Amino acid sequence: MGDPLRPEGELTRSREALLAALREEGIRDERVLAALARVPRHEFVPPHLVPYAYDDCPLPIGCGQTISQPYIVALSTEALALAPTDRVLEVGTGSGYQTAILAELAGTVYTVERVPELSRAAEQKLGALGYRNVRFRVGDGTKGWPDEAPFDAILVTAGAPRVPEGLIAQLAPHGRLVIPVGGRFNQELTLVHREGGRLVHRHLCPCTFVPLIGEEGWT
Ligand code: SAM
Repeated sequence: MGDPLRPEGELTRSREALLAALREEGIRDERVLAALARVPRHEFVPPHLVPYAYDDCPLPIGCGQTISQPYIVALSTEALALAPTDRVLEVGTGSGYQTAILAELAGTVYTVERVPELSRAAEQKLGALGYRNVRFRVGDGTKGWPDEAPFDAILVTAGAPRVPEGLIAQLAPHGRLVIPVGGRFNQELTLVHREGGRLVHRHLCPCTFVPLIGEEGWT
């Protein structure tokens, strides 16, 4: 993408620097790093923020929402341990950047967003970039996508007060769920999976996401 403020070569250099920083911070899965190297984050941010697209921070995308921090995208995706045939549910499409990363690594991605404009823009963007394995829906993602359940992996990209029961019910027996859980302003990124029939929660890192708003989220 031609940006007068940051020419192509500079974007490439800042993307390489970001990948090196993610390795330093402990991201080890080469498939995840390769996906981050392929997906052009600068295509998912507003034009005036293109110079910052490869900074390791969230950025505003309009409608009061944000594109997630690359480290959190990488860590969440790594924790999901995706196989190429996996069916993945994403709650909170936002810009569609994390959706594209999931689409690189999984079989089919089902993504739900409550803000119609964001869902529409993400669908157009991913279509233009050639992703054919993503299905979009507008609605309350705390209810999941019952018609397509169960899912091998579920990723929630907004902060929840608790893990929605509806999502647990839609997780396959071997499934992995990653979700930020906690207060309205600070959460713990949490991996939930089943071990011997019971649910195990593992904290991955502290984080700050916009609130998950819905029946099983915040009001
Ligand atoms: N991962 C996205 C990206 O890379 O651009 C960022 C997602 S943003 C941090 C969180 C998104 O979750 C927002 O777009 C917000 O509108 C959406 N959201 C909040 N509550 C939701 C709900 N109940 N169902 C679906 N989407 C929801």
